[in-house]
Amino acid sequence: MTNVNHPTRALFDDVMVPTYNPAAMIPVRGEGSRVWDQEEREYIDFAGGIAVSALGHCHPALVGALTEQANKLWHLSNVMTNEPALCLAKQIVENTFADKVFFANSGGEANEACLKLARRYAFDTFGEHKNKIIAFKQGFHGRTFFTVTVGGQPAYSDGFGPKPGAITHIPYNDIEAFKAAIDDDTCAVMIEPLQGEGGIVSPDLEFIQQVRKLCSQHHALLIFDEVQTGMGRTGTLYAYQQLGVTPDILSTAKSLGGGFPIAAMLTTDEYAPHLKPGTHGSTYGGNPLACAVASKVFELINTPQVLDGVKVREQWFRDGLNAINEKYHVFSEIRGKGLLLGAALTSEYEGRAREFLTAGIECGVMVLVAGANVIRLAPSLIIPREDVEEGLRRFEQAVAKVLAK
Ligand SMILES: *Cc1c(COP(=O)(O)O)cnc(C)c1O
Repeated sequence: MTNVNHPTRALFDDVMVPTYNPAAMIPVRGEGSRVWDQEEREYIDFAGGIAVSALGHCHPALVGALTEQANKLWHLSNVMTNEPALCLAKQIVENTFADKVFFANSGGEANEACLKLARRYAFDTFGEHKNKIIAFKQGFHGRTFFTVTVGGQPAYSDGFGPKPGAITHIPYNDIEAFKAAIDDDTCAVMIEPLQGEGGIVSPDLEFIQQVRKLCSQHHALLIFDEVQTGMGRTGTLYAYQQLGVTPDILSTAKSLGGGFPIAAMLTTDEYAPHLKPGTHGSTYGGNPLACAVASKVFELINTPQVLDGVKVREQWFRDGLNAINEKYHVFSEIRGKGLLLGAALTSEYEGRAREFLTAGIECGVMVLVAGANVIRLAPSLIIPREDVEEGLRRFEQAVAKVLAK
């Protein structure tokens, strides 16, 4: 490493823009659902990055796909196409509602493409007046200025000057508010089919099906942000497959690359032609290395064993968390679906989710938060039973530690 023999956490504050406040330890190595820090302390990983490392760390088949492609070809411009991108697009199209795929590098970028496509389709087909976007309070769609403004937390988009316009936010699962908001000038509705950052909130089936119906009536495109819920996370390849509705556009990222940056926008033959050459693009989108890894991730996740295994693991986690709760009475509810689970804190512990994350690290287990009141788990989809049990033992110690404060 360039003239730094042992980079420390203190160096972060010296050389990094302070957008984050990372933990005191620095992980250096991972294998499956275990991670080791600079001091060789071991952690069980219930976080998976944030729902990213869907097959754990350094899965041998992914290391194989990455190194094989690394020895062949790393990058081309979009003046040419490449084999891994074509293969991955074919896999996605064959297994989802989509006919066409656009590759990007992050969830925010994929969502940016979704929103631009919806606006362009409406502009081309109906005229400039059809530009309104409906989104949901507490929703999260990324950090580009368009996507963060469509996201439902003004705290993230305030303070950067004038925002992209014609965006309305309504409460999630509130069909009356939705009916009042949608009209013929609405071009798009962007929604997470299970709110992640917003606190692990599931949609009511009736609500989401009504949203689909009203979008069709008003010729508004329904965009599902499946950046966090996609790639098997909720027990099917995509969450929409359990909701009885099909979106017009879908974004996928996080687990898609299993830790290698890649994202995609999925859509149909009806809408895709509106992003014709020159309207949108990305230097790295569809990069051969990223696509080779994602293609292997896709192949491994899209099997009955892995997808059914998600439901089995969900039950292990629910049983374990309920057992902890019987002893400590800290959770009001265990919610979510598949391996995107939230343990909501009782009012007694309101606002203290982060303390459980920190205590978890001290006890050798990595968990996440979703807002200030929910502890979130998003582990590997193939986490072994002994890691779940050991991680839950450590998490129980963490709970005891917070309660003893
Ligand atoms: C993480 C996330 C994003 C943003 O993805 P980035 O890769 O950080 O740009 C967008 N939408 C949802 C639902 C997410 O969970």
